[in-house]
Amino acid sequence: LVRAVGVVKKFGHTTVLHDVSMDVQPGQVVCLLGPSGAGKSTFLRCINHLEPLDGGQIWVDGEPIGYRVRNGKLYELRERDVAKQRRGIGMVFQRFNLFPHRTALQNVVEGPVQVRRRDQAEARKKAMALLDRVGLADKADAYPGQLSGGQQQRVAIARALAMEPKLMLFDEPTSALDPELVGEVLDVMVGLAKDGMTMIVVTHEIGFARQVADHVVFMVDGAVVETGPPSQVLDNPEHQRTQQFLAKVL
Ligand code: ATP
Ligand code: MG
Repeated sequence: LVRAVGVVKKFGHTTVLHDVSMDVQPGQVVCLLGPSGAGKSTFLRCINHLEPLDGGQIWVDGEPIGYRVRNGKLYELRERDVAKQRRGIGMVFQRFNLFPHRTALQNVVEGPVQVRRRDQAEARKKAMALLDRVGLADKADAYPGQLSGGQQQRVAIARALAMEPKLMLFDEPTSALDPELVGEVLDVMVGLAKDGMTMIVVTHEIGFARQVADHVVFMVDGAVVETGPPSQVLDNPEHQRTQQFLAKVL
């Protein structure tokens, strides 16, 4: 579902991604690990073309992100068409980014109605089902300020799911949460993984990675150092950098 080949990203003269490649099959969960500054967030942002690439190419569901193929050639898409590609990709950040003046339900309904032009009643019904799925049916009318961080993050997940994404990207979704709230968000993500959602998750939650990841990718300084199943990368890492990193986070 996702194929990244030789991705290069520079900010000015600094190269922050060197030749990053990755393959994610439909239904797979890939966990991305690495120290601060490794380029994990930048790579996620490249996948939905929030950052244009300086080299390489990323395909999602057969489409080159940011481009259209015609007669075997790539043509850059206009922002409006990139936005259309992006709709198929849900993203959940460290900070919850909910609209503060809208209730949980309104936050979830917004995208389908405004962007996908769904019928309001239909969208509400679906949004309620999604809030139920993340365990928040009883908080539908609460405003973000009335919800805990963990609850807000679950609303953010429901909001992303409302757009019916084929791929979900998570950037440290639990790292801004109090420790006792981490579990409820991870539980929702485990459920999503079990339901077959394709996910790329930047996380330092090793237990989560061990439980659901098909692949773990360990990055340092903009490059992939090691990749493989959790049993290999987490429990039996080959590279010293991976061993050092795991010793710190475990
Ligand atoms: P963290 O674990 O701290 O979130 P990360 O692996 O997500 O780190 P990135 O945020 O992708 O790392 O940053 C990778 C490198 O790119 C860093 O050196 C960062 O300073 C740099 N960088 C990121 N965004 C920009 C930007 N908009 N302009 C310039 N440099 C940037
Ligand atoms: Mg980051």
